[in-house]
Amino acid sequence: MANGVKAIRGMNDILPNESYLWEYFEQTVQQWLAAYGYRNIRTPIVEQTDLFIRSIGEVTDIVEKEMYTFIDNLNNDSLTLRPEGTASCVRAAIEHNILYAGPQRLYYAGPMFRHERPQKGRYRQFHQVGVEALGYAGPDIDAELIVMCARLWKLLGISDLRLEISTLGNTESRALHRARLLKYFEQHRDDLDEDSLRRLHTNPLRILDSKNPRMQRVIENAPKLIDDLDLESCNHFESLQRILRERGINYEINLRLVRGLDYYNRTVFEWVTDKLGAQGTVCAGGRYDGLVEQVGGKSTPACGFAMGVERLLLLIQACGKKINQPVPDIYIVHQGSDQVMDYAWKCAEFLRDEGFNVILHCGDGSFKSQMKKADSSGAVYALIIGDDEFKVQEVTIKPLRELIEQASVKLNSITEIINKKNLY
Ligand code: ATP
Ligand code: MG
Repeated sequence: MANGVKAIRGMNDILPNESYLWEYFEQTVQQWLAAYGYRNIRTPIVEQTDLFIRSIGEVTDIVEKEMYTFIDNLNNDSLTLRPEGTASCVRAAIEHNILYAGPQRLYYAGPMFRHERPQKGRYRQFHQVGVEALGYAGPDIDAELIVMCARLWKLLGISDLRLEISTLGNTESRALHRARLLKYFEQHRDDLDEDSLRRLHTNPLRILDSKNPRMQRVIENAPKLIDDLDLESCNHFESLQRILRERGINYEINLRLVRGLDYYNRTVFEWVTDKLGAQGTVCAGGRYDGLVEQVGGKSTPACGFAMGVERLLLLIQACGKKINQPVPDIYIVHQGSDQVMDYAWKCAEFLRDEGFNVILHCGDGSFKSQMKKADSSGAVYALIIGDDEFKVQEVTIKPLRELIEQASVKLNSITEIINKKNLY
């Protein structure tokens, strides 16, 4: 398109040649979530900016640099395209008082927006499926979230994922750790980059999350939170690990795992692959016991995770799983008077009633060119309807994928024929 309008950089169209993979993924995920009793919640894509600042944290990459924020000119409200789903989910749970009925296992799916540098596995509009268990203190639910991920990877044919876990402790141990980190980074000011210097006094924990290669050594030698950990968080972490071991889930403890959002405490985890280059984290989450209260609700423990759909689809393909593009069962080729066409319509609707996926040829075209279309549609059978078939109220059935003679049959015996030949 020379002067045409194009899509926004980092925001992708998903065309039919690819969308079937998304549909396969969505169907698998839906069944998987149902198997664990998680129920769907759908929230708006736009929220008050304040919600994200309060939940994700002012001094984070997302809030400082990545949000699509704009002023609603009609009332001067500051609004933001959601960069993640947990904040909205918690807001909705509080607003509609759904925790009154007890703890809730919830999930959401949909687009998220972050103004990042687009590259493979990193986009400005991307998609997440997120799971939130609200009202559960764990560690059993923490384990459930991880165990269910492991099951999904198996269902999707993904084999090369590594689980990294850690614990961030409670508020007090984090405060203690923060003070020690501050002292340490103060002593190593010269090694810090601009972002980290700015965050030194506001959010030193965030420095640990830096992806700057030049900072990795100073980060590696920084004090570790595990040394400041409170006893209860320690026990929580131990129990989680016990369940994981019992379930046969391999994990690595990565004490440098801090996550990019401020609301986490205790358990944090990431599923990481080496197959996608720098964008190796396909799923990440943890516990956020303070968030519900922070957003205005009653103090409620909670735990959740979000996975990046684009990265998982790339990984499914990298793992070599073959997913067939769905094809129609039947393509109806027809030619003749209006009566013949009406008969072809009747056949098509009847076959759909019977549960077949049917394409009825639309527009003109000789038998030959229609047959070509039938073939390239991938359909398993062509159904041919012309004057002869109409006269005797039959159809000619021609298998397109097997060397079987074509046959002329009554419409209501098609089901039997197709099922008997069982070409799928
Ligand atoms: P990263 O470290 O890769 O920037 P993150 O810590 O910012 O990820 P989360 O906020 O935890 O990511 O989001 C959960 C998951 O969503 C990520 O593990 C990733 O799979 C996916 N994700 C996050 N940002 C993007 C993006 N810009 N494009 C595509 N997927 C993304
Ligand atoms: Mg990020």
